[in-house]
Amino acid sequence: AKDNGGSQFHVYHQEMYQRVAHRVMLEGEVRQALAKQQFSLSLQPQLRAEDKKIYGFEALLRWHHPERGMISPEDFIPILENSQHMIELGYWIIHRCFELAIMIREQNLADIRIAINLSAGQFVDVNLPSYLQSLLDKFSLSADIFELELTEQTLVKDIDHTITMMDSLKSMGFSFAIDDFGTGYSSLAYIKKMPIDVIKIDKSFVFGMLENHADYQIIMSTIAMVKNLDLMVVAEGVETAAQLRSLTENKCDIIQGYYFSKPIPEIELIEFIKTHIHD
Ligand code: C2E
Ligand code: CA
Ligand code: CA
Ligand code: CA
Repeated sequence: AKDNGGSQFHVYHQEMYQRVAHRVMLEGEVRQALAKQQFSLSLQPQLRAEDKKIYGFEALLRWHHPERGMISPEDFIPILENSQHMIELGYWIIHRCFELAIMIREQNLADIRIAINLSAGQFVDVNLPSYLQSLLDKFSLSADIFELELTEQTLVKDIDHTITMMDSLKSMGFSFAIDDFGTGYSSLAYIKKMPIDVIKIDKSFVFGMLENHADYQIIMSTIAMVKNLDLMVVAEGVETAAQLRSLTENKCDIIQGYYFSKPIPEIELIEFIKTHIHD
């Protein structure tokens, strides 16, 4: 038993060491990848349920690693979380979204929204408002085309800081969406304390909504609550015509998912806009 305890301790230590080593390696790679332009964004369309017109695009990070191929953001963003590297990468993402907004505006589509995912680490960065302000000035863009997506975990991390940060970005004109709604452990109380504009129902509820009674009820009561609060509601992960129909009938505002389109590589964005928006 004594030996066993010792080796368990050893295994634990080794795992922890590997995690730290992996993280350090990844951080170095991220800096290199930024320099070597291995990152790009893909844009997933969000459509208004009532007329199926494009409301906006969510920007999703892609990493084309020369040896390891495409690496999913889910495999490295959580590891970088709270590091200076995530803040730098986040600045790159935001900057690229502004460049894409200019490209979209040049297509005479001034009111298409761009949703930007912000990680918790980015949201505690006190320089975020001045960085965003510098981009608004540099690109002469109005903040109201940008929607900042935060998860419930980010909101509840430091509520006082969150409210201060949200209020200052809100006063600059940015709007806020709560991502992965319903998957966190937070209370609903924050909704009335924070300047939230949009609630995004997590795709895990949408996938089985027509087979699973609980998922269906959770979605429908979320839609009803969100509409009663005069906020907008987005359903993500919509993959079938039947899901789309049910969500539309129940007054969900915005639909996002593979049924309409997978995320589009940024180099194909303008072509996509030309074929889908300009007929
Ligand atoms: P998320 O913010 O919840 O983004 C939605 C994810 O669902 C995306 O995965 C998208 O490709 C996927 N998705 C959309 N519609 C469907 C569908 O109909 N079916 C299925 N099966 N999946 C669908 P992706 O691009 O792999 O991103 C995964 C997560 O990585 C994101 O989840 C977000 O948490 C994070 N992430 C991605 N880009 C960024 C970024 O620029 N910044 C930050 N902080 N996080 C990001
Ligand atoms: Ca998101
Ligand atoms: Ca989500
Ligand atoms: Ca997610």
